[in-house]
Amino acid sequence: MPAPIRYVQDSANFPDSADVVVIGAGIAGAAATWELAKQGLKVVLIEKGLVGAEQSSRNWGWCRQQNRDERELPLIIYALQRWGELNDETGEELGFRRSGLVYATQEESDIAAWDKWIQMAKGYGVNSSILTAEQAKAMTPGSTTSWRGGLSAPTDGHAEPSLAAPGLVAGALKKGALLFQQCAVRGLDIAGGRVSGVWTERGLIKTSRVICAAGAWTSMFCRRHGIDLPLGNVIGTAFRTQPIEQAIAMPLYTPGFACRPQMDGSYTVSVSGRGRLEPGAQGLRYARQFYPTFKSRRKNLTLNLGLSPFFNGPEAMGGWSFDRESPFERMRILDPAADAKIVEEGLAAMRREYPALANLRLAQSWGGMIDSTPDAIPVISTVAKLPGLVLSAGYSAHGFGIGPGAGRLAADLATEATPIVDPTPYRYSRLVDGSGLETPGMM
Ligand SMILES: Cc1cc2nc3c(=O)[nH]c(=O)nc-3n(C[C@H](O)[C@H](O)[C@H](O)COP(=O)(O)OP(=O)(O)OC[C@H]3O[C@@H](n4cnc5c(N)ncnc54)[C@H](O)[C@@H]3O)c2cc1C
Repeated sequence: MPAPIRYVQDSANFPDSADVVVIGAGIAGAAATWELAKQGLKVVLIEKGLVGAEQSSRNWGWCRQQNRDERELPLIIYALQRWGELNDETGEELGFRRSGLVYATQEESDIAAWDKWIQMAKGYGVNSSILTAEQAKAMTPGSTTSWRGGLSAPTDGHAEPSLAAPGLVAGALKKGALLFQQCAVRGLDIAGGRVSGVWTERGLIKTSRVICAAGAWTSMFCRRHGIDLPLGNVIGTAFRTQPIEQAIAMPLYTPGFACRPQMDGSYTVSVSGRGRLEPGAQGLRYARQFYPTFKSRRKNLTLNLGLSPFFNGPEAMGGWSFDRESPFERMRILDPAADAKIVEEGLAAMRREYPALANLRLAQSWGGMIDSTPDAIPVISTVAKLPGLVLSAGYSAHGFGIGPGAGRLAADLATEATPIVDPTPYRYSRLVDGSGLETPGMM
């Protein structure tokens, strides 16, 4: 079942040219579109389904520096600053609140890992602190567990996935950007070895600059152009409860559940680290690159084997021509089923932990297909063999919070401006030459 999402109205007249075309209206594409439109460029955003309807509306909404890989820290620090500005700048409600995040645990190993991260992050001015057992209890009033300790990340926050990507797009439209939904980009037009346009199901748009922010579909899109992009897809599950009298005031992580309270008294909930694999041709193609991650996360992953992913969706095999229906328009919205066991476990854990939530009820659950890189660091990068193309994908289950930073960096690369942060950690080339891949990133 799709997660809730705000609808944004399409533009009227389909253009035949643009300064930049952005493929995909998730948070990465929406944020890039906003940044480019703000600069006065003629930017056209093309979405095969609806704005935000894939991963970007299905996530927990956490915008965290906490436990980020060091390579992502400069970009997430910038992103959090931008989250604080974007409501006013766009004139749209994105739901961002710098609420702080709280983690609580009974495991000494969690506390040791968090403490190690805090020592590293201090160098970047990040202001998290370890909680003693008493402090963890005080930060989780009404919980039953006697926590061994916890962590407080007071400068982190959350935004509203049903509003954020749509709000950025709505803001960009006011600045002159154009949006076309239910319109897949089937491929790139290439002349003289560089990008010269995009072929959409409504015709060609001439452009010399394209940002491909196609989420779980990016690897398939790239392969059609001979660009090898090893992405692994994992299905995550989240759910929303019915409103109930408030028991948890701010986003909370515990080993049994992670939740974010909503303004209406409901919670968005999941169980951290859990996922489902349904490999198709892409999964087999990149099995070697993802085997180390698979091995280390094996106990939290379920494996569903079947033939359907080989024929449908972003893992399917085969090619397509640009003048016929493509795999992108055959699946307007990628809507994997929620994992019922994760939903049951998360609900039960919340009810157990908080007696005040004993009557907590499920409202809606959904799955979301997460595109990951082998080192869990995104690709925000030009591609040497195809000038004019910028990739923005592989956000590895933590791309929502970093979205505004990712959008700005992709826009900088597309316009050849001085990048807002050093783009080296996000370079595409590492995924094909292996340089730096030996250091797996944090989830
Ligand atoms: C259950 C779950 C919980 C998560 N929790 C968090 C969290 O708390 N914090 C966090 O930071 N991250 C979280 N994430 C990860 C986060 O949601 C993603 O990293 C982020 O949304 C990725 O955004 P995106 O724009 O790259 O991709 P998407 O949102 O998937 O957008 C890609 C878009 O491209 C479109 N598209 C694809 N191909 C084409 C084409 N050929 N033509 C036109 N359009 C195309 C698709 O239709 C889609 O709308 C979570 C993810 C899940 C599933």
